[in-house]
Amino acid sequence: MACTVENPCGSTGTIALTAIRKMMENSKIAESAEQIFTDYLKENRCRRTPERYAILEAVYSMDGSFEIEELLGHLEENMKFRVSRATVYNTISLLINANLVVHHQFGTVSKYEKCLGTKKSHMVCTKCGKVTEIENTDLTETITANIKKFHLTHYSLYLYGLCNKCHQAMRRRRARINKDK
Ligand SMILES: [Zn+2]
Repeated sequence: MACTVENPCGSTGTIALTAIRKMMENSKIAESAEQIFTDYLKENRCRRTPERYAILEAVYSMDGSFEIEELLGHLEENMKFRVSRATVYNTISLLINANLVVHHQFGTVSKYEKCLGTKKSHMVCTKCGKVTEIENTDLTETITANIKKFHLTHYSLYLYGLCNKCHQAMRRRRARINKDK
């Protein structure tokens, strides 16, 4: 008879270890982001204010892309840090120039995202504008295997098509049209 005893401790342990590894990796990324930002501010003779560093920290603690309003909310609610909208916009521009943040234009929606250490693809529905983010390890391997003489820090890939909901709706509409013929 096959042994059916499961080892919940083993699987939990693996999950915990993966989470710890991810946390350590994230804190290392945040640390280098801070260093890059400091260098950038010094080089460009910009003031190194606590507000600017708090915004950087907020951006690097957020998962995936966000709108300015979400960033403001995250700063206020989770970090108890109040900054003006103007300061956020100004700092985001600095972070974009320092190659620490990337700007996405999804239809009419403007979104931002940390880019250091990010290897993401965005599936964009051309009908309703829904954006789904995916992280694909296999794809990262393929990309890194095919680039030479180039030091890759991050990438962002856009995949355009129809989300499941819009695809189903289109199929139903087509079926209706064909029936009426
Ligand atoms: Zn859609």
